[in-house]
Amino acid sequence: MPAERVVLATRNPHKVTELSRILVTTGVDVSLVGLDAYPEMPEVAETGLTFADNALLKARAVAAFTGLPAVADDSGLCVDALHGMPGIFSARWSGGHGDDKANLDLLLAQLSDLSERGAQFVCVAALALPGGSAERREWTVTGVLAGSLTRERRGTGGFGYDPVFLPTGSSVTTAQLSPEGKDAISHRGRALRALAPVIAEHAGARRPV
Ligand code: IMP
Repeated sequence: MPAERVVLATRNPHKVTELSRILVTTGVDVSLVGLDAYPEMPEVAETGLTFADNALLKARAVAAFTGLPAVADDSGLCVDALHGMPGIFSARWSGGHGDDKANLDLLLAQLSDLSERGAQFVCVAALALPGGSAERREWTVTGVLAGSLTRERRGTGGFGYDPVFLPTGSSVTTAQLSPEGKDAISHRGRALRALAPVIAEHAGARRPV
């Protein structure tokens, strides 16, 4: 029997690669496709106030549009000294969406006088099934990577705030880890691995994980 198709609710090819790489390591037997396979799918506005709201908005919309189970994630950096911000505003902290350099420059400037440097990467991963509003047609799980923020950028891997994020107990930033090394501890790795058995149970993937 062919593996069940599950749609990853993103058009970002890097994210499709990352989410697929993580889910493959769990042994979940699904055929993963990105939204590139559905060019006519309208953009989903991320109007939620929490990571879970936004992940569910995306997963729900994609499941409804494609008629297939959909997995979405929403993530960000939560800084203790900023009471959890940038949080859901991480991608647009400096104004423009997705300007990693400007976002990081602004954050470092805001924290320059502070010795309190604690922060967490947080990811909520969601699975939504097509087929209306019956109870428990959607699930969310949260993954967290705790750490602190350096004052200088270190490393060239990863993206976003990785060059200044030092995981607790690590001597290197997440920008200095290999993709697989980062997956093993990252907020997205943790969330996706926690979602894998839920996908296996509810999205038709039956191979034991
Ligand atoms: P999204 O969940 O892909 O929309 O991510 C939102 C934003 O959070 C990104 O644009 C980054 O600024 C930040 N972010 C999320 N995950 C990471 C990560 O693993 N490393 C660095 N920055 C991240």
